[in-house]
Amino acid sequence: PPDVVTFGETMAALRAQGALRLGGSLGLSVAGAESNVAIGLARLGHRVRWAGRLGADELGALVLRTLRAEGVDTGHAVTDDSGRPTGLLLTEPRLGTLTRVSYYRAGSAGSALSPADVLPALAAGTRVLHLTGITPALGPSAAEAVLAAATTAREAGITVCLDVNHRSRLWSADRARTVLIPMLAPVDLLIASEDELPLVQESPDADEPEAVAGLLAAGVGEVVVKRGARGATSHTADGAIDRAARKVDAVDLVGAGDAFVAGYLSALLDGADVPARLDRAVTTAAFAVATRGDWEGLPTRDELGLFDQPDGTTIR
Ligand code: ATP
Repeated sequence: PPDVVTFGETMAALRAQGALRLGGSLGLSVAGAESNVAIGLARLGHRVRWAGRLGADELGALVLRTLRAEGVDTGHAVTDDSGRPTGLLLTEPRLGTLTRVSYYRAGSAGSALSPADVLPALAAGTRVLHLTGITPALGPSAAEAVLAAATTAREAGITVCLDVNHRSRLWSADRARTVLIPMLAPVDLLIASEDELPLVQESPDADEPEAVAGLLAAGVGEVVVKRGARGATSHTADGAIDRAARKVDAVDLVGAGDAFVAGYLSALLDGADVPARLDRAVTTAAFAVATRGDWEGLPTRDELGLFDQPDGTTIR
């Protein structure tokens, strides 16, 4: 069985070199929060399965080919037979590390995801189910898929991880709160940015200690708060542990959060304690930040120590 099962919408990604409205050449890759995590985990040597719905088109074939090449199990991915296309996103660098993303995903195959698409992927013996708050924003059947998978996994003793990953282009904060709060019951490990905590809280004005206390009291075993260049904190019943980010020259911030999750889950699967999980998470996130692309620069296991080498080192 896979160590980790994840699912969501993975799209083709077209990356411009400058402002999109000026034209010029585009680079073609794939992007999706959950598949970024899947690739990160596969590179670290874990068995990962990605499920999702793709168009019966060339971009769907690109997504499958890319995930397979990265060693991700796509055996449960579903091809849409109703003519819905694979989703698309375009990115353009604007100022330094500030990037603008445009989505072409309304009506996509990925957003038509249903419980029947994902439940068969949850094999007995799976250790972690990783979900994001992007999937429930895609539509009612995708939201049902997340809830059904989380509930089934929890009953089977599989650790359920949810990364809030709010996408304000897909839904409002109010709608996100209405849908996400009822989904928290089966969640064991909740990952959120500082600014996303109000979305998983009954009282949106609660400060971080109050929000975290409420989540832990509601049965979430661990709450991990990401703070960008300021690092992250893990809260459990035993208290809070902070970890600074690694100091890197930031090149491309997109994908940092997904890389962080991949590192965190990898260490969790290895049986590491909370400080060691945070250490691997900020390390894989630093690789994402210091390299271009959402997942292309993620480390293999033997590369994890590269940040401890002096700058300017040549590896021979
Ligand atoms: P995303 O844009 O991928 O959704 P996010 O908002 O989910 O990101 P962040 O808190 O921005 O997540 O970043 C996640 C982790 O990445 C941080 O906890 C930190 O370890 C690392 N990170 C982010 N920015 C930097 C930076 N400038 N330098 C070093 N590490 C960083």
